[in-house]
Amino acid sequence: MNDLLSSQAKEFLSQPIPQFINGTWINSESGKTTDVIDPSSGSKIATVSSGNAQDVNLAVVTADKAFKSWSALSPAERAQYLNRLADKLESESETLAQLEALDVGKAFVNADGFDIPFGIECVRYYADLAVNADYGKTLDLKDMDARVHRAPYGVCGFIFPWNFPFDLLMWNVIPALAAGNTVVIKPAELTPLTTLYVCKLAEEVGIPAGVINVVVGAGRAVGTPLIEHPKTRRISFTGSSGVGKQIASMCGQRPIPCKLELGGKGAAVVFDDADIDNAVEQLAGAITLNTGQVCCTATRWLIHENIYDQFVEKVTTKLKSTVIGPGIDPKTEMGPVVSQAQQDTVLEYLDKGLTEGAVEVLAGGKVSVDGHDGGYYVAPYLLTGSPNNICFKEEIFGPAAFLVKFKTESEALDLVNSLEYGLANSVFSRDIERCNRVAEQMIAGNSWINAHNVFAYGLPYGGINMSGVGGGVNSPETFYDYLRELTIARPLG
Ligand code: NAD
Repeated sequence: MNDLLSSQAKEFLSQPIPQFINGTWINSESGKTTDVIDPSSGSKIATVSSGNAQDVNLAVVTADKAFKSWSALSPAERAQYLNRLADKLESESETLAQLEALDVGKAFVNADGFDIPFGIECVRYYADLAVNADYGKTLDLKDMDARVHRAPYGVCGFIFPWNFPFDLLMWNVIPALAAGNTVVIKPAELTPLTTLYVCKLAEEVGIPAGVINVVVGAGRAVGTPLIEHPKTRRISFTGSSGVGKQIASMCGQRPIPCKLELGGKGAAVVFDDADIDNAVEQLAGAITLNTGQVCCTATRWLIHENIYDQFVEKVTTKLKSTVIGPGIDPKTEMGPVVSQAQQDTVLEYLDKGLTEGAVEVLAGGKVSVDGHDGGYYVAPYLLTGSPNNICFKEEIFGPAAFLVKFKTESEALDLVNSLEYGLANSVFSRDIERCNRVAEQMIAGNSWINAHNVFAYGLPYGGINMSGVGGGVNSPETFYDYLRELTIARPLG
């Protein structure tokens, strides 16, 4: 067991972790378990139950029963539960950050400094919003007493990827709970630990049994039956664009509402009047944050030809100084990628990009870290070449970026908008009018100015085209999305 872990984390990991259904910890129906691997060392850190369709059925039926009483509470009563949960999460934030760093391999400084506190802020944001929300509106119609009434759906299903388990859980599940729904969650099979730890804390603060349920397991074994269950009233999926399309089509068969938050291939446009040091800081940060495994991060860097050489010199110096090490180590700035398979993918992209004619701006790739031989470490790499290169066009999901020089604003915009992804881009310039003009013309859910990866509650975050559909997260709309609308009308006279 890792010496850097708190006693709570050690205790949590010391026994096989069952599923959380109906407020109790139960083994999967099949008795199967799966090992959770530490990407920083390749060794086992925990054993968790591995679920199937029967487990999903139990979880959904349970959540459906719990819906009656949870939805009957007033928004203020539900908010009280959520605020109690937020307090509890806060009191255990260090343990949560350790578990997240250990499980994902992400740098503890980021988990502790951003992921966990920002996720907790989400709980308070939606608890507050639920109390002050509009649960209906009167319609001003001739000869009719008519109104719209908003009510929760019932059981909401959630399927998550492995890169930000805690924040994605909070961003998606909390608004649904605050709106009065009950939930069945399928975390990524690679990184289920903080999701299960949150269940333990939810249990401790007395969130009623059945309101939150978690079944861990593979996509087809758990995700598919969750979508197909007749009592699942809607699905929120975060993950790759390829799987997202399959999920949308399964939801379409029912049909039930389906919200998709998918992959991306973000661009950053750096003009020659930009604050270069800031652009370097932001973009080096973009591919080292969570080891580049961030859906919205900037991995296509479009640099004005007048500053290209200067930018490259500074950014390569910055990236070479990145401290790579085990996620849990507080000195680490960039951890490993999440798995052997992900390491293989990131390295295969490097090979394919070079084979297609790309040139290395910064040579990176597989590295080993002293004392952590089994870890899945990849040093940052930068390529340049044709925008037709595979590494310019496809999501690599690792510490890698592809640089292209540009001359004019319209040329840069054409490059930004040349892909089907539409999640997030950024523009760097001291000319704020130009920044706004360029930002507006970027075809995506989010455009950021002189920064990349900008998040706040109240700032909607979502994608379009291959990057998602259905509203996004972190805004009041996210909350209202978990309420169905019913019209009630009475003709007069
Ligand atoms: P993935 O699509 O492989 O898996 C996501 C989830 O779907 C996992 O829980 C998986 O078990 C499940 N799943 C897979 N096949 C399924 C099926 N047939 N039926 C039901 N469930 C199934 O994605 P990943 O590799 O875990 O995560 C990385 C991807 O997630 C990247 O593309 C990234 O950009 C994206 N992502 C997007 C956002 C966003 O907000 N837009 C946020 C984080 C990650």
